[in-house]
Amino acid sequence: MQTQPKASHFIDGAYVEDTSGTPIDVIYPATGETIATVYAATPAIVDQAITAARKAQGAWAAMTGTERGRILRRAADIMRERNHDLSVLETYDTGKPYQETSVADATSGADALEYFGGIAASLTGEHIQLGEDWVYTRREPLGVCVGIGAWNYPTQIACWKGAPALACGNAIIFKPSETTPLCALKVAEILHEAGLPAGLYNVVQGMGEVGASLVTDPRIDKVSLTGSVPTGRKVYAAAAEGIKHVTMELGGKSPMIVFEDADIENAISGAILGNFYSSGQVCSNGTRVFVHRDIKEVFLKRLAERLENAVIGDPMDPETSFGPMVSKRQMDIALGYIEKGKAEGARLVFGGNAIDGAGFYMQPTVFADVTDDMTIAREEIFGPVMSVLDFEDEDDVMTRANDTEFGLSAGVFTRDLTRAHRVAAKFEAGTCYINTYNDAPVEAPFGGMKNSGVGRENSKAAIEHYSQLKSVYVRMGDLEAPF
Ligand code: NAD
Repeated sequence: MQTQPKASHFIDGAYVEDTSGTPIDVIYPATGETIATVYAATPAIVDQAITAARKAQGAWAAMTGTERGRILRRAADIMRERNHDLSVLETYDTGKPYQETSVADATSGADALEYFGGIAASLTGEHIQLGEDWVYTRREPLGVCVGIGAWNYPTQIACWKGAPALACGNAIIFKPSETTPLCALKVAEILHEAGLPAGLYNVVQGMGEVGASLVTDPRIDKVSLTGSVPTGRKVYAAAAEGIKHVTMELGGKSPMIVFEDADIENAISGAILGNFYSSGQVCSNGTRVFVHRDIKEVFLKRLAERLENAVIGDPMDPETSFGPMVSKRQMDIALGYIEKGKAEGARLVFGGNAIDGAGFYMQPTVFADVTDDMTIAREEIFGPVMSVLDFEDEDDVMTRANDTEFGLSAGVFTRDLTRAHRVAAKFEAGTCYINTYNDAPVEAPFGGMKNSGVGRENSKAAIEHYSQLKSVYVRMGDLEAPF
């Protein structure tokens, strides 16, 4: 497969190159080889993208929702037709196994394009009768939006931000993570092939400073970031200077509670999906697994047995179920946390090591006897490191589960119906799960409470974050004035 893109950026409906920007090598995580090089956007490139977006947005907003939606839905169909190639590219970009990328990335992006394409025609304001007078509201686009992505789901993030932005009549400029610059270019290509007018979906490459230059530009109306909490703080503050709309999809350290009456195999499936999918590089992962003391040893024994079945290897092999980390840097961060876990007295019950050879491979890792104060139980690791903590009492475990700065996700495994809903209601988290973990259908709102974020992606809720209401008061009679 050709992994070197035609050019680094996609602006005004075409590939654009400017080799005077800082070169960014794209590394295939399975081998450590450089598979492409792109160049960070120079100020001239950033200006070109913003100018194109501003120029195109008005005519796009003036089209009917049906027309806009048709283009998005056509793009969804093309994405599905090309799922194989897009999945291979996603695997090159991220190292995630094809077994995952073929069902979770372009497919999820296509879902977003289809869903928001379907919703575009039914976006309306409302009529409010006030005696003879009345008010009507118009749902208007925000203008030009900026999307900034993390590296774990490059295709999905490019679509989760692009689809609602475009459905609402905005233009968007997307800056992928510098670690995974390839996939968003394909999203841009497909949208234009589907009939999207030039200038509405632009991709510019670069590091944080390119993102920062977009966020601070007065011609930008909205910023949607997927990234870490420290980056979120900076981007939120910069956006506040210009009183811009924001969506912040940030990090997490989510709890998963396994009660003594849970179906233990299902709970282990949840713990595996919520810790080791994408080699643990998922923001919503349930990395603090609270297991009731009565079932803890059975849980750990079965978990270890099932982890032996992980197929670690070439991510392009459809049998492989656990791939490399996205980068050496990310692997070193995770390995550093494993050392901290050991040093602070957690019991290593599975994995714990890097795997020799090419690429950035490490073992899925489980610690038991983790206590709430340990670093591995407090900080986001963003790697395949599960912490198992004990509990006995529901009230106590709820307090402990919520005792974190984060609030992205949370899960509960139990057969007790009322307990399941009681626990879900008490979780301080935006996305909760009962007897499952990490499902993220486009129909459901996704996002965080507390430091994990602001706003919601997906579902009808995202429309609120990509449009604004104007109210128009209409007087039907004469207007009285005091003089
Ligand atoms: P990161 O915060 O390092 O970078 C995210 C993006 O922000 C990158 O594109 C980066 O170039 C850009 N950036 C950095 N500094 C910037 C600045 N000052 N101004 C503008 N842009 C700037 O995150 P990452 O390492 O790419 O991704 C991992 C993090 O993302 C984890 O914390 C993870 O939890 C989070 N994440 C959250 C979600 C979610 O939906 N909540 C999804 C995936 C990842």
